[in-house]
Amino acid sequence: MEYLPFTKPDVDEETILGVAEVLRSGWLATGPNVQAFEAQLSDYLEGRIVRSFTSATGALEVALEICGIGEGDEVITPAMSFAATPNVIMRVGAKPVFVDVDIHSRNIDLDAVEKAITPKTRAIMPVHFAGLSANCDGLYDIAQRHDLRVIEDAAHAIGTTWHGKKIGSFGDLVSFSFHPNKNMTTIEGGALSLSDPLEAEKLDRLRFHGILKDDEGNQDVVLPGGKYNLSDVAARVGLGQLKRLEEFNEKRARLVEHYFECWSLENCLLPANGAGHSWHMFAPLIPFEDFRISRQAFIKKMHEKGIGIGIHYPALHLFSLYRKLGYREGDFPNAERIGRETVTLPLFPKMEFGDVESVIAAISGILGS
Ligand SMILES: *Cc1c(COP(=O)(O)O)cnc(C)c1O
Repeated sequence: MEYLPFTKPDVDEETILGVAEVLRSGWLATGPNVQAFEAQLSDYLEGRIVRSFTSATGALEVALEICGIGEGDEVITPAMSFAATPNVIMRVGAKPVFVDVDIHSRNIDLDAVEKAITPKTRAIMPVHFAGLSANCDGLYDIAQRHDLRVIEDAAHAIGTTWHGKKIGSFGDLVSFSFHPNKNMTTIEGGALSLSDPLEAEKLDRLRFHGILKDDEGNQDVVLPGGKYNLSDVAARVGLGQLKRLEEFNEKRARLVEHYFECWSLENCLLPANGAGHSWHMFAPLIPFEDFRISRQAFIKKMHEKGIGIGIHYPALHLFSLYRKLGYREGDFPNAERIGRETVTLPLFPKMEFGDVESVIAAISGILGS
């Protein structure tokens, strides 16, 4: 059997030929393909304003800057995410205030959000974990009552819906990632969806050197902007991917359905199978202590059987950077349990249903049931 990684992008021949065409055209940096990619993403997100970025991390950082968040401000965010989420908060000089997540949805606990609000709180940065929407009604209700911005880390959630509405087609500032591990890719890349044209103009300055051009083409520099514009080569990959996003996500959902059907191990906590899930990841919690094996040893044995396993993620607040903010073990029991027990099983559009069965058989073989 060929090695089965936990994820793998599906870039078709048409896209590869398209990329070659862009490379031959002589226009490699931001140009017509970026324009087309942003327009199609905007169509996909029901006409919202959409800007592409070289990464979701860059998009999140610029989103915080658009809101004017910095020194002395607090941003509430889940203790279960990738390091990019709290890092960008620190990069603009603000403080990430962690809260726990729900053990089933793995999404931010709204009661905990409410309790974490202080006079310094400026924004909530939720994560639609593994592709399952956070409770957007609850989130925006809290934000409205406390006059807070919401910056959605939707890195896992392109194609996710909340009550039938696509994430990024509504709400405040919404950031997507197109890293190769995500549901669609531009190699590296991301996008920000927003609704206010004035904030979009500010974004354009922040994304590209702070440069403002007037109608005659005269340039001024009005703020110390960064450099986050996507290349046309990357955007051409994105155009080929966006066309197939629904197909990709449908296949992910069918593979996950098969994981649920085949799962036989007891005492594991499978992810919540909620409506509108884009199934970026399928990550059950396995109580390794009960099976008398370490997670590391389990992953090594799976690897020996030709199967890749990921860990998404260790609880954020236990990393040394955030411990320095005063966090420690015991602060967020659900995030800590997920951090200890989670394993990301192979899931990508090119997988076959038989691959799901091989993964399940390998797990059962190792854990002995
Ligand atoms: C991947 C990811 C990011 C960062 O995306 P990049 O495009 O790699 O910058 C941010 N947050 C979460 C939750 C992610 O999974």
